[in-house]
Amino acid sequence: MAAVVIDGKAFAADVRARVAAHVARLHEEQGIKPGLAVVLVGEDPASQVYVRNKGAQTVDCGMASFEHKLAADTSEADLLALIARLNADPAVHGILVQLPLPRHLNSDLVINSIDPAKDVDGFHISNVGLLGTGQKAMVPCTPLGCLMMLRDHHGSLAGMNAVVVGRSNIVGKPMAQLLLGDSCTVTIAHSRTRDLAAVCRGADILVAAVGRPEMITGDMVKPGATVIDVGINRIEREGRARLVGDVHYASAAAVAGAITPVPGGVGPMTIACLLANTLTACCRSHGLPEPEGLTV
Ligand code: NDP
Repeated sequence: MAAVVIDGKAFAADVRARVAAHVARLHEEQGIKPGLAVVLVGEDPASQVYVRNKGAQTVDCGMASFEHKLAADTSEADLLALIARLNADPAVHGILVQLPLPRHLNSDLVINSIDPAKDVDGFHISNVGLLGTGQKAMVPCTPLGCLMMLRDHHGSLAGMNAVVVGRSNIVGKPMAQLLLGDSCTVTIAHSRTRDLAAVCRGADILVAAVGRPEMITGDMVKPGATVIDVGINRIEREGRARLVGDVHYASAAAVAGAITPVPGGVGPMTIACLLANTLTACCRSHGLPEPEGLTV
């Protein structure tokens, strides 16, 4: 039987609609408007597109968007001073520093200077620790989006074997923590894993976050498994530029029970979860109930 296609585009639209409805209520009943500040250093074209999209979707949801575009040669001191101002600004509930930063800036230092309560990317060391110890954290957007789709598809994930291929700090590790938090039996695979295919074939839930086009093929997928493809790879095929995931879609979809496509799977969920995190941060800062189903 053909795999169910998990439609991330539709799911993300639903998340955005739920965020917008909650934001409208907050404004009407409490006079509060959540605000997201995005800081971009330099002129990386891909980052500029991301920042523009984030700003537009923030405003579409009824939230305030503050964009700070700094020159590529901005000093660390000036960037840290801006973050200190945003930390102190009550109109700003979420702060996102677009990565990668130019090489002369220390990303860890910069990220760890953000107030953890406003760290809507969930990369601050305090949020990493909170997530790792099962406490209330700001959760990184991409893994949060994956978890939402998995919960929606399966209901309970308890007892399922989950394999996460990739151990980056922004996707692989937090994804594994979230799946563990939902009582999966979790394996993290990486470039030194022996017999990756056999490890993957043990997965009821297989998450690919590798950055290698179409590396996970159908023969690595357990029949009926749910496959979440985080990869975004730009390749050229038959003279055309194309976007493909880390999973070979056609062969995996022939075996899997459910699968996310690329594009239109995990990608749209990332910005939707950024908006959800900004709303969550705003509610927490005001001691108000958090939006249901939009956080862990
Ligand atoms: P990183 O490059 O930081 O990490 C890649 C991971 O894959 C590493 O842990 C690496 O292992 C592992 N890996 C590399 N080669 C192999 C291999 N042959 N076998 C097994 N494991 C391997 O990437 P990210 O986590 O940042 O991103 C992963 C993918 O997700 C990329 O395609 C990226 O574009 C995409 N992405 C998509 C997002 C979205 O919004 N949908 C958001 C963020 C990322 P090791 O540690 O041993 O080197």
